[in-house]
Amino acid sequence: MAGFAVPTHPGSSSEAVSRRMSSARRRDTAPEMLLRRELHRRGLRFRVVMKVPGNNRRTIDIAFTRRRLAVFVDGCFWHGCPDHGTAPRSNGEWWARKLAANAARDADTDRVLTEAGWGVLRIWEHVRVHDAADRVQAAISDADAHSSRESDALAPAAGLATGASAGGSDGASSAPSVASGRFSTAANSGT
Ligand SMILES: [Zn+2]
Repeated sequence: MAGFAVPTHPGSSSEAVSRRMSSARRRDTAPEMLLRRELHRRGLRFRVVMKVPGNNRRTIDIAFTRRRLAVFVDGCFWHGCPDHGTAPRSNGEWWARKLAANAARDADTDRVLTEAGWGVLRIWEHVRVHDAADRVQAAISDADAHSSRESDALAPAAGLATGASAGGSDGASSAPSVASGRFSTAANSGT
């Protein structure tokens, strides 16, 4: 991710640290590219680097707009992965603040998206690409199941199905003509 609002670094005190920083920055995007490619291979279509609704300065790595699912591939270093997110020891205090700020911003982005009705899925960059893609597909299935439930409630076909099952359980002991009249009334008033 480019364009972080990074406070001025107090000075790279060692070659190793600066090498690590630049490689961490590069690695930040490689897993995301792999995941995009894998999702595409699985037939999924999405937008990349889409602006967060209501916050033009932040972006969603992989956005499924119709389903309102935001996927982030979080770099282990920059986003503070519990397994690999250790801060460098030199300038430790500065880094600790910097990484804490990143974490706070991530949490705030999640909040903004959730309030806008989006689902948020964050995946560490260390997750293997197939597992990451599986997680995305699972989240999509959830989103689809949720939205089909919502549209079922509005669709006429679903109303008929509900009425039929209610009639089936109750109507067996009643006269069919009375039952059908009663149940269609119940179905109408119930929805
Ligand atoms: Zn990690």
